[in-house]
Amino acid sequence: MIVRSISLDFFRNYLHLEAGFHPGVNVIYGENAQGKTNLLEAVAYLSTASSHRARYDRELIQFGVDHAFVQAQVSARQRDFTLEARLSRGGRRQLFSNGVRLKSAGELAGVLNTVLFCPEDLYLIREGALVRRRFLDGCISQLRPRYAEALAEYRRLYEHKTRILRDGTEKPSLLDALDEFNLRMAQTGAVLIHYRAHFVKRLREVTPAIHLDFSGGRERLELHYETVKTVTDPEAAPREILPQLLEHQERHRQAELESRQCLSGPHKDDLDVEIDGKSAKTFASQGQTRTAALSLKLACREIFFQETGEWPVLLLDDVLSELDPRRQAFVLGRITSGQVFITCCEDMGLGRLREGKTFHIHAGTLV
Ligand code: ATP
Ligand code: MG
Repeated sequence: MIVRSISLDFFRNYLHLEAGFHPGVNVIYGENAQGKTNLLEAVAYLSTASSHRARYDRELIQFGVDHAFVQAQVSARQRDFTLEARLSRGGRRQLFSNGVRLKSAGELAGVLNTVLFCPEDLYLIREGALVRRRFLDGCISQLRPRYAEALAEYRRLYEHKTRILRDGTEKPSLLDALDEFNLRMAQTGAVLIHYRAHFVKRLREVTPAIHLDFSGGRERLELHYETVKTVTDPEAAPREILPQLLEHQERHRQAELESRQCLSGPHKDDLDVEIDGKSAKTFASQGQTRTAALSLKLACREIFFQETGEWPVLLLDDVLSELDPRRQAFVLGRITSGQVFITCCEDMGLGRLREGKTFHIHAGTLV
């Protein structure tokens, strides 16, 4: 997949930008706070309709302006697409593919696949489960439109149920809806668990070999998907998982009412990483967890390739400068094909690695 060009209006610090990209390596350099991450964020937004660092779309719109546009020409599956997002401070965002309005973000899944890698991702293993769930969600949503839709639905239900539990003591009639919400969350949750289990299975097939190579043949990495305790076989069909989720909800009903929190469901899932049989989160050194995080991201890129027959667009935001020369060389050695965007503060001469183009960004303009 290739992003041929992008056009931005009022997106973050870009008033207006038109840029054509190389199908190989695109190095984007500039001083701090000039718009490097914003540009990568715009590309990633067109692939997932979400941003890795903005909670709300309105954060992407330039200060003092009430709308923003992002448009890109993309080549994928031997076809050309024009993807467009129109963001508005007051109204709903609108997504288009070749001028046709998309009904949901799920319809965007698979048109443009991206793997974004930023310095925070180096803490993927050490941080709480939320970041690992985000990692899984981001990957699976791009590969499986049904997953993206189920995830959006689950989030809506989760927020609604949380409000019911929070306000139910003052207004007990709200609790009448609890059974209905539990059932819908279990139905949607079963879909999430099923897809997550299958994706983790793929990760287990691909990641250990990358990690072994990365650690010079020394470290053995293992991955385990951790989900709701009552689920005996997370890879099973969602209809088989459903009663097991309902059972878990039932067991936690009283605790949920007392704590006023949703305690049961795949919003607590985790991806457990072990190195040489020990929990990486607890026992691995900083260097080991970094290597494991890099292995996971590179594995994700390879799974995308195996699933779609095309390399996803790789977005490396500031990550190379965070790595020692050995890790840098390893990462660069594995990305000899597919389109890559690399941001850095100085022109690191990376453009020489492979055929590509270098861009200098200053105050939201190409110089
Ligand atoms: P660094 O090297 O420090 O990572 P960067 O070039 O990646 O810098 P960006 O994160 O792209 O910097 O941000 C560029 C500028 O955009 C920052 O000054 C930021 O405050 C500004 N910015 C962020 N959101 C908006 C917005 N909604 N409207 C206008 N400017 C914004
Ligand atoms: Mg940045």
